[in-house]
Amino acid sequence: MEYEKPKCECGTDLVVRMDKIAEFEFAIKKDGRISKKGKRVTAFSQSNWGSLHCNKCGNIYEFNYDLIGQESFKFKREEQL
Ligand SMILES: [Zn+2]
Repeated sequence: MEYEKPKCECGTDLVVRMDKIAEFEFAIKKDGRISKKGKRVTAFSQSNWGSLHCNKCGNIYEFNYDLIGQESFKFKREEQL
């Protein structure tokens, strides 16, 4: 079965919104505050929670993916939230 990208009921391709966590380093300025520019020191890791959003009509869906086989880590649409 060929993979199909998750689509909204309105037919628009859905996008994934999720938190990505990484550590950053910031220099401390003379006034004691941190500089705006930070340097990322670890790779971004994906948190467990996220959702699929439709940028056209605003619908939000849960997503799922398989961990094994040919379909592994391919996003699939689940229940509407
Ligand atoms: Zn939509």
